Order: sequence, then structure tokens, then C-alpha cells
Amino acid sequence: MSGENLQALQTQIETVQQEILNLINQRVALKKQYDDVLASALGCTEPLTDKSMIDSLVAANRGPITEEQVRVLFKQIFQAGDAPKATEKKSLLISRKHQAEDTVVRVGDFQVGNGTPFVIAGPCSVENVEQMDAVGAHLSKEGIKILRGGAYKPRTSPYDFQGLGVEGLKILRDAAKKHGMYSVSEIVAPEDVEMACEYIDIIQIGARNMQNFELLKAAGSVRKPILLKRGLSATIEEFLNAAEYIASRGNSQIILCERGIRTYEKATRNTLDISAVPILKQESHLPVVVDVSHSTGRKDIMFPIAKAALAVGADGLIIETHNNPAVALSDANQQLDLPQFSNIMNNLRESGYLSVPVG
Ligand code: PEP
Ligand code: MN
Repeated sequence: MSGENLQALQTQIETVQQEILNLINQRVALKKQYDDVLASALGCTEPLTDKSMIDSLVAANRGPITEEQVRVLFKQIFQAGDAPKATEKKSLLISRKHQAEDTVVRVGDFQVGNGTPFVIAGPCSVENVEQMDAVGAHLSKEGIKILRGGAYKPRTSPYDFQGLGVEGLKILRDAAKKHGMYSVSEIVAPEDVEMACEYIDIIQIGARNMQNFELLKAAGSVRKPILLKRGLSATIEEFLNAAEYIASRGNSQIILCERGIRTYEKATRNTLDISAVPILKQESHLPVVVDVSHSTGRKDIMFPIAKAALAVGADGLIIETHNNPAVALSDANQQLDLPQFSNIMNNLRESGYLSVPVG
């Protein structure tokens, strides 16, 4: 076939396509006119339905396109010109679409998500005054500004240590105050959220409660920063929607925490979804931290994992630290002791991942 013939065929194809497009637009206009007339008509004729029109087209089809192709094609053509569906994704308050610039969460005079990576540390559970004092004293010397400690512990077994409750919050508050730090602790009941605001600086919603919608709503109704952990089996979309519950009630001071998800892998306690970090940063303007303790459950890989988290853009880390992990009342295996904590901090500083000044 000559070049000229080829050119001619190409031109014909383009002309036909243009005609199809014009005809589709013509149909959209006619259909609109038809629908308007139909709306005011008094039901004298049987109205056209998509099904009856497609059936007629299938019957009239001479090929080579198949019956199935006619159905798919005309279904699409019939939808052309429709107004966008109300079901189309609304941009969430916590999304980048809604707010382009990063949210900086303010915890007193400390800023989370301002571009300087930071570390939240402290024991899994608040156990007693001496423990929190020893941990607080050490961590504050390492420049840590946010002290963690669980007082309401969501334990797998009902026979395991359940936490000291409000007494634990008071011990945490006193230790944090004494050492010039802020505090974060998990709250598990919606009715405790307001009470907890009197004692702690950040309210944590744990993985097991990520979709406790009443708790999320309660967290959205107070004016305290919220640390929201990703659910054990939550997708990123579900995680973001959980954060939206909080934001929708007027509290946009939210820190997202990737803490590993359930997979079949047993080598680590959970599987750290490292790709969630840049995705969350891309999708949302909220700061993101990585809990390197609950995600791995392993001290031996904590340093590379901490580096990885910061390398992919995490704003901070959570590292469980205890003055005597061997006798800890919860998560004894994964908590660092104080020298191990200093060691990891030094390594992170030396490798340039952290610039936390020693306190
Ligand atoms: C915790 O941080 O104390 C905790 C229980 O973690 P998670 O909710 O991520 O399991
Ligand atoms: Mn723990």
C-alpha cells in the first residue's frame, strides 16, 4: 500500500471519529431536550429507557463489533454529558487537596512536623513514680521533649496488666513536668477524653481503636493534639478516614502514626508498611511518625528501621524505652533500656538522620 493510500485512510478515520464525537454531543443535547419535555409531558408515550435503546441497537448491529461491545459502548455514550455523580470523592479536610501546606502540630512550645525530625520515647506502660522519673530524667538529657507511657492498656489477655488508669496519667504528667517534657498517653474510652486533657498534652488513639468512631469523635471535640495510630489491619484509606473523623469535629491537630500492620510474616511483630509514610505525606498534610517498637517488636533491627523511616520522610519516631525492660509489665521484649536508647540516638545523630540536641 502506498504512502498516499495510508494517508487517505488516516484522514478518513479521523473524519469518522470527529463525526462520532459530533454525533455524541448532538445526542447529549437532544437527550437533554427530550428529558425536559418528558418531565412536563402528561405520559402519552412510553418513555425511552437505556435498556430498550441498547436492545434496539444490539438488534440492529451488523458487526464487526460484538453485542457485548455495543452494550458497553452505548452505556458509556448514554452517560456522556451527565453531571458528575454525588458519590465522587469529596476532598477530605486532612487531604493535601484541601490544604497544600504541612500542618504543624503545636504541643506547648514544641512543634511537630516543622521539618525537624523528633523522637517520642518512654515505656510501654506507666508502672510507678520511680520508673517514670528514671526514664524521664534520662530521656530529657537526650533532648527528648515528648514522654510516653500507657495508663489504659489495651491488652490481648484480660489477665495481663491493664494499666494504672488515671493514677498512671498523673504519674506521667508529674514526670514530664519535672523533666521539662510533654506527655502522650493512650485513651480508650470516649468519656475519658475530656478528663485526660487535664493531665496529658497529647491524646493517643491506639491501633485497636482506630475505628472506634465514638472515640474519634470525642477526640475531635477537644482542643488537644491527637496521636492516631494506624489500625492493625487498616488500609491507608481507612486510616485517613479515621483522621478525618477527628478533623471533621474541628480538631486538626493530628499526628498520624504508622505502627505496622498484620501480615503472614512472623519475623517481626507486625510488618512495617514503610511505603505508607510517603503515601500519607503525599495524601495528607498531617505529620507522620513511625513507631519502630510496635512495628518490629525487635530491638536488633531498630536502628536500620529508624533510619529507613526518617529516610522516607517520617517527621518523627516512637521508641519504647524502659529503665529495666526485663521486669516491664508490658512489652518487655521490645523496650530499649536507657543505654540502648542513648546508643540509638547517638547513631541517628552521627548518621545525620536526627539533629535532636542533647538536653
Ligand atoms: C502503645 O503505643 O502503647 C500501643 C499499645 O501501641 P499500638 O496501639 O500501636 O498497638
Ligand atoms: Mn507497648
